[in-house]
Amino acid sequence: MLKVEHIGIAVRSLKQAVPVYETLLGTNCYKTELVASENVKTAFLRSGETKIELLESTKEEGVISRYIDKKGEGMHHIAFEVADILAEMERLKQKGFHLLNEAPKQGADNKLVCFIHPKSANGVLIELCQEQKEK
Ligand code: ZN
Repeated sequence: MLKVEHIGIAVRSLKQAVPVYETLLGTNCYKTELVASENVKTAFLRSGETKIELLESTKEEGVISRYIDKKGEGMHHIAFEVADILAEMERLKQKGFHLLNEAPKQGADNKLVCFIHPKSANGVLIELCQEQKEK
């Protein structure tokens, strides 16, 4: 894996959380994006090499909404950038990791993504992401 690409944080309200993280990091949110397939709205901030992805549910029954109901707001996942997502998925599957999607899917920020079940990684939801080439 290449680096920590971003850290995902589940929030109830982007409107409330974005200014908090802008102040914390001393930088402005540079992008918001709706990921309809996941029922989330995301906001990105950059801190050096790493991004922070704030996630707000757009639906009562969405994954982020359910996560917050269970655990409250907070750290949701760590995303690692990979050069070849298919190869990494295969490698980890071989090693017994439980992948949450069988094929890479379209994520925010022009990335192909795959999630690994927290049970496979000591309680942390892991995201693999690969930058997509120009469309
Ligand atoms: Zn993410």
